[in-house]
Amino acid sequence: MGLLYLGTPLVWDEAKAYADHVRDHGITQFLHIWDRLKDRHGDELLWGDEVEYMVVSFDDKEKNAKLSLRQTEILAKLNAIVGDICADCPKDIAVPTFHPEYGRYMLEATPGAPYTGSIHDLLSVEANMRYRRTLARQHLKPNEIPLTFTSFPRLGVPGQFTEPFFDPKDAISSHSLFLPEEITNPHARFPTLTANIRRRRGSKVAINLPVFFDEKTPRPFIDPTIPWDRAIYPEDSEARLGAAFPDHIYLDAMGFGMGCCCLQLTFQSCNVSDARRMYDGLIPIGPILLALTAASPIWRGYLADVDCRWNVIAGSVDDRTEEERGLKPLRTNKHRIPKSRYDSVDLYISNDWINRPEYNDTYLPIDEKIYERLRSHGLDDLLAKHISHLFIRDPLVVFSETVDQDDTSSSDHFENIQSTNWQTLRFKPPPPNSPIGWRVEFRSMEVQMTDFENAAYAVFVVLLSRAIMAFNLNFYIPISKVDENMQRAQQRDASTSKTFYFRKDVYSTNRSAASSVWSSSGSSSPTTDGAPRKKTRKMENCFTPPPLPENGFVHRTPVEAEYEEMTMKEIMNGKDENFPGLLPLIDAYLETLEVESQDMVRIRRYLDLVRRRSDGRLLTPATWIRNFVRSHSDYRQDSVVSQTINYDLLQAVDEIERGVRKAPDLLPTDYTGGDTDQGSIGL
Ligand code: ADP
Ligand code: MG
Ligand code: MG
Ligand code: MG
Ligand code: MG
Ligand code: MG
Repeated sequence: MGLLYLGTPLVWDEAKAYADHVRDHGITQFLHIWDRLKDRHGDELLWGDEVEYMVVSFDDKEKNAKLSLRQTEILAKLNAIVGDICADCPKDIAVPTFHPEYGRYMLEATPGAPYTGSIHDLLSVEANMRYRRTLARQHLKPNEIPLTFTSFPRLGVPGQFTEPFFDPKDAISSHSLFLPEEITNPHARFPTLTANIRRRRGSKVAINLPVFFDEKTPRPFIDPTIPWDRAIYPEDSEARLGAAFPDHIYLDAMGFGMGCCCLQLTFQSCNVSDARRMYDGLIPIGPILLALTAASPIWRGYLADVDCRWNVIAGSVDDRTEEERGLKPLRTNKHRIPKSRYDSVDLYISNDWINRPEYNDTYLPIDEKIYERLRSHGLDDLLAKHISHLFIRDPLVVFSETVDQDDTSSSDHFENIQSTNWQTLRFKPPPPNSPIGWRVEFRSMEVQMTDFENAAYAVFVVLLSRAIMAFNLNFYIPISKVDENMQRAQQRDASTSKTFYFRKDVYSTNRSAASSVWSSSGSSSPTTDGAPRKKTRKMENCFTPPPLPENGFVHRTPVEAEYEEMTMKEIMNGKDENFPGLLPLIDAYLETLEVESQDMVRIRRYLDLVRRRSDGRLLTPATWIRNFVRSHSDYRQDSVVSQTINYDLLQAVDEIERGVRKAPDLLPTDYTGGDTDQGSIGL
């Protein structure tokens, strides 16, 4: 989540009076950064992950697994020990930092310092993640466990799912029928965000996930656990007046989405145009890795017919009014807005010739005045559109103490809008007065149950991002097709049963460096002009943009002929000479690096996990979880995930993570859990 101010947040009626003020000054702040840092060049690769945890409290007598609401205490302890532990902290690992998250049962942890482009750092990720998990574990109660689990299966069921118990009737911010006020981080920012989304929208958020129909699921499925006739808050009647669909699992609060855990990666680029190129390159990858990391098939105690969190979070912070959603003619609002503030990217932003205007093929509302202001300041069309699109949103949380800022030294107003546009990729300008450069954040992945898997996906994305840049790979397909892939990605078993739009020929000019490396097995790899190149020990960060084709800017192929539908297996492992597959492209990139053989073995082990998941030899977490539920002795084939099933499931997840329970359909058979010497730090 974004910045945490101390202060007095304004209720929506007061906050909205400052919306133009925040936008105006936010743009001024961005322009100060732009003027100072647009020509910044030469930043090395620095990168880092964010892993989110839910703290689960196990009650072995009652056989119940509940969410522990002790975030405040736990974070206080963890942040206090950060000073002490360095005496016995592992030599190679900077002390990690722990951050609050939306859920009062959640923690987020990042490495203490970003990793560099060295292979050593690439291979320290798993140990670093394990160290964070170990630290968190050490500062919890004996019956509490930090799980990297995407969505808590029984969040919002009747009865007790938090420790301690709170009644949803006290949900003064969300007015939820299911989640108590105490599910939310108590810092003023979070309840205010929750309440202001509801107030701005004019109703509670409403999410309907198709239920998974099993043999004995009643048809039609009318959820008996919804308190249909409750009458505490004015919105209580929404469910029975149509907000809750039959045959669906209905969710009505921000906590259902922002209470999910994910895995994110941030990369520093050499300069702003490299950042824009990498941002674009990773946009089509967002849905692909969402499908592959799918890990959330259970919602509010029911098996769903979807495997991912994405639409839940998108719906959970959807503050658009009925006018903006197109349900009523525009009168008080300025724009029809097709998507929630949390959704997939709306615009490619690179100025490279390979970014054809046709790819930005969806309706993109922008704030015209801001667009004109940015253009007259000298920004190019695409970046001006990007920013003025983000800035159609209102600031949701305004603190009275920070309304007036020094726009030359602060970026708080800019970040207020920027950090509440939650897209699959985030283009992050440098903060003012810091050594940090232009960055790109990759945000679509679901968190995996073990650090081995989380490290594997981190390594995969790092290497893919390098391959994109080093070989000038062209992954462009129209944004509308990326959007379509986002929807397909979330369907049950998408990675084995669906196809995705993907580009047929990923080389931007003729056969570039990648294909020659790919087909060569020599020790030195050729450069674009065919000359042998010395292998590098570090992953480099500054690249030459795709050279102009001989025919200038003329694109001869119709856009529709550039892509086709592919299976996950084909996208990852290749189809033909024009499309070798993402994993072989990574292999080609690895050929350009000098990697010790034992390090290569470890990299291969990570890539092999991704490969086996992509070709169906290993299950996605979502499929594994669904199978676990359906084969549990208490399961009645009625889609219900009972208290006992949930307890056994989360116990199993913990045992798998520690390596004391085998899951050969999910993980490689040699996975031995937290104490393996592969990246262990002996804690
Ligand atoms: P947010 O929540 O805003 O997305 P966080 O601060 O939680 O961001 O995480 C940012 C990640 O970026 C961390 O893993 C951190 O190590 C990493 N990071 C820090 N500095 C840099 C940098 N200069 N370049 C790239 N990544 C960085
Ligand atoms: Mg987070
Ligand atoms: Mg973070
Ligand atoms: Mg943050
Ligand atoms: Mg989150
Ligand atoms: Mg982040």
